[in-house]
Parts: sequence; structure tokens; C-alpha cells
Amino acid sequence: MNKYDILIIGSGLGGLECGYILSKNGYKVAILEKNAQIGGCLQTFTRKGTKFDTGMHYIGSMNKGEIMYRFFNYFNLTEDVKLSRLDIDGHDIINFRGAEYPLASGYDNFVNKLSEKFPENRNEIKEYIKRIREIANASPLYNLHKINNSVLIETEDIKTSINDFIASITSNNILRNVLIGNLPLYAGTKDKTPIYIHALINNLYIQSAYRIIGGSDIIAESLAKSIRSFGGEIFTNSDVIKIICDDYKATALMLADGTIFEGNYIISDIHPQVTFEKIQSNLIRKAYRDRINKLENTISNFTVYLKFKKNSTPYLNYNYYFYDNESVWNFSNYEVDKWPNSYLYMHQCDENMQKYADSAELIGYMKFDEVKKWENSSVGERGSDYLEFKEEKAQLLLDKLENAFPGIKNSIESYCTSSPLTYLNYTATKEGSMYGIKRDKNFPMQTLISHRTKIPNLFLTGQNINSHGVLGVTIGAVITCSEFLGINFIIKDIEKINN
Ligand SMILES: Cc1cc2nc3c(=O)[nH]c(=O)nc-3n(C[C@H](O)[C@H](O)[C@H](O)COP(=O)(O)OP(=O)(O)OC[C@H]3O[C@@H](n4cnc5c(N)ncnc54)[C@H](O)[C@@H]3O)c2cc1C
Repeated sequence: MNKYDILIIGSGLGGLECGYILSKNGYKVAILEKNAQIGGCLQTFTRKGTKFDTGMHYIGSMNKGEIMYRFFNYFNLTEDVKLSRLDIDGHDIINFRGAEYPLASGYDNFVNKLSEKFPENRNEIKEYIKRIREIANASPLYNLHKINNSVLIETEDIKTSINDFIASITSNNILRNVLIGNLPLYAGTKDKTPIYIHALINNLYIQSAYRIIGGSDIIAESLAKSIRSFGGEIFTNSDVIKIICDDYKATALMLADGTIFEGNYIISDIHPQVTFEKIQSNLIRKAYRDRINKLENTISNFTVYLKFKKNSTPYLNYNYYFYDNESVWNFSNYEVDKWPNSYLYMHQCDENMQKYADSAELIGYMKFDEVKKWENSSVGERGSDYLEFKEEKAQLLLDKLENAFPGIKNSIESYCTSSPLTYLNYTATKEGSMYGIKRDKNFPMQTLISHRTKIPNLFLTGQNINSHGVLGVTIGAVITCSEFLGINFIIKDIEKINN
């Protein structure tokens, strides 16, 4: 009989981290993953001998003692996951309308490097850093401080938009755009995305920014190894199609092949809208279901995965954000016939101190509507018009890249592409959305998803609760597991392992 204390749907970062924490603390855990490969956005794929990341390209605050390092140490990841530091004088380069600006690592270095471009605005850049740090420092969980009340983020920082915050810092329009130049990292929307998201993510990378050597699947594999060593089990090719409930609670999961797994508790690491589609019970009332279904999702992306000719392309030790329109906010609000108005270009890291790049990702941001007409077709059978669409979009992106990096197209040996449909297929996130449900400062409570559901033994985890990205999801996993272990117990354990 497949009977467990805790069943986890999905082996994304959130599912694996919950599996780690709970199996480490004695719970009998099973993780059910629909794909052949674990990891969700940590998945990689290989084409012509080259491995590509799909959804975790760089991580921050990984210097010893910094917040993400402390979490990685707790999850026993620091030995398996090898890192390569991005350029401290500009881990992100923002190309805004033809000029390049660095976002550097280290608080003082950030101010100094950006002030070289904006000498008149030095004090404003200093003020920006001061306020970003204040916001990040005010969150107990983001600093692994003991929690005495349920305030995780200050209300003001949830109710203030990024653009209002930036406008309060400087009236220099170029500087405003540059300070939010890595906006696609959190798919920010003007007048909606709250400042705390920008602050927590930028504070993470400004402290230190790293690429993962050899691919982000190493994180998933290392977590899986530990989970199994604690007695937990991970089942791949296990598509959960139904969450079975009695009159009071969830009792079991049904897979597509009819297999039943019974569990005392269930944690879902998949999109909340998709989770609730798998529940027929009246325990989830229509009003609640409707509210969740109405929430908007963040934009998706169209990516070109490039393999370069041998020793043709010097390795770029930074991420390159490109905009050729009047406002970086337009990256997600584009006119279809003018696409792409922005992109993110990143080389893959295969070893430390790399001289040449073997491969790269070129990401353009794309609305699901553009591929909606193929939504009901299956992978590999979408037809020639879909292939033509992908080829056309790839060429548009490559032409834009060529403008900033003349000659780059000649260095390409081969390429392949992914679209919003690819993400929909591989992670089952709604509309292929990159980061799940969009937070909105105008509806702060409605767009903050609780890890608790209307079913007492069904919990959520992953990027839709708390926040997305390596740190957002990790903190979300801690919040979900606090239901079983208590938040301060987990924080103490993390601190103990780091001392
Ligand atoms: C293009 C892109 C780039 C990104 N870059 C970065 C970055 O550089 N740094 C960073 O920190 N973050 C980055 N992120 C964000 C980060 O990758 C995600 O926030 C995080 O990995 C999400 O983890 P998760 O656990 O919420 O879920 P997911 O990774 O979405 O995993 C969910 C899992 O559930 C499985 N599943 C779905 N339905 C079922 C079912 N019915 N039955 C069983 N299993 C199911 C899926 O197959 C998947 O494995 C990026 C994301 C994207 C899309």
C-alpha cells in the first residue's frame, strides 16, 4: 500500500525543499513528479552534447555567511553545487537605449560604479541602496531571525509600487530605468508590483551574484539524494490528476495511470489554480475557487538556446539586459509587431574562469496569447505554422542581439527554441507564466497566496506563496513546513548548522 505521512505534488525547488525538511525530521514523505526529470524550473536539457538551463540562471547572496549560502548549507548543497562569481563590477549590465550601465555587487561598489555613469545622482543612488537594505532588513524570515508575530513584510512595502518608490528616489529618467533594469527577474508591472519584491531580489544579488557551474539540475539532484538518504521517496512519471477528499479532508492522490497514494497531509508545489482543478470536493467553495482563478499571472517567455562554434565567443561574466524602447516597463507590455523590445542574454557557465562560451540563452518576454492557438496540440505535433512562428521569433531576437554584439550570429553553430507552451508543458504553470501569480499592491491581500487552503490537511508551497526565485521559494518552503515543525524550530536548526 502506498501510504505516507506527507505526499508532495511536484518536484520543483519548493517540493524538494519541503521534502528535505520534512524527511530530515522523521516524516515519511513521497514526492510525485509528472515528468521523467525532477526539478521543475531546475530542469536542464541537452542538445548536441550541450546542456542548457531552463529556469535558474543565477543566484545571489552565496558568499559564506550570506542568506542564500546559509540556506544552501542547511540543505547540504554547498558541496555538490559549484558556483562561479559574476563580475563584481557589473553582474548585470543594463543596455538602455544604446548605452550600457552596470549593476555592481557590494553596496558601496554598486554606488561607486553607477555613480561613474550618473555623477550628479550619487546621493540618490546612495539613498536607493539605503532604502533597499532597510526593506530587506525589516523582514525577519529573509534574515533568519526568530519570528514573534506574523508580520513577514512591512505593510508599507506591500502597498507601495516599484515605480512610486523609484520616483521618490530620483527624477532622472535614465537612472530610474537603470535601477529597475533587471525588472524581468520578477516580471514587474508598472503601478502593480510592490516594492518589497524588487528590494528583496536586488538586495540578494547586490550582495553577491553567481552562476551555477554545469547546470541548475545539480541543485535538484543533490536535494533528491539527501531526501532519499533520509528515507523519503521520489516517483517520476507520476502525473497527479486528482486530489481525493472525504467530507473533511484530503485523503489520497490519484495518478494518471490510476495508482492511488494515500497520505495524512498533502503539499502541492504546483500552481494553485492547477491544484484546485484537481479537487472536486465542496471543501473548496466556488467563491474561493473563483477568486483564485481570477488572479493574473506573470508573463511567459520565448527563449533561444545558442550553441557557439568552438572558441568563437569570449565568455561574458555578466547578464545583459537590453531595452530599445522608452521605458523598461514596456518589456511585458509590447506591441506584437514590434516584438522584441527587450531581451536578457546570458552565457552558460561550464567551469570557473571560463575563456570562451560554449552556449547561451537569449530570453525574450512573450504573452501566452501569442501561442494560445496551439495550446491543445501536443509536443512535437504542433504543426508547421508553429515551427515557422518559432523560427520567425528566433530570427527577430537574434537580429536584436547582433545589433549589440556585432558578429555574434556568425559564431552560432546551432540553436533551438522554447515558447510559453514549452513552460506550460514542462512545469504545468498557468499560461506558461514564469513566476506564477502576479502580486498587486492595489490588492495586496488577494494576490498574496497563503500556504494554507480551505482543506485543513492540504498546503501549498512553491513560487506562488511568498515569492518566486531561489530565495523566495526557499522561504516559502520554510513557511509551509512550519505547519509541521514550527517556524522557530526550523530557523534554529538552520542557524545551528551554520554555526
Ligand atoms: C525562464 C526562467 C528563468 C528564471 N531564472 C531564475 C534565476 O536566474 N534565478 C532564480 O532564483 N530564479 C529564477 N527563476 C524562477 C525559479 O526558477 C522559480 O521560481 C522556481 O524554480 C519555481 O519552483 P517551484 O517549486 O515553485 O515550481 P516549479 O519549478 O514550477 O515545479 C513544479 C513541478 O511540479 C510538477 N508538476 C506539475 N503538475 C504536476 C502534476 N499534476 N503531477 C505531478 N507533478 C506535477 C512540474 O513538472 C514541476 O516539476 C526563473 C524562472 C523562469 C521560468
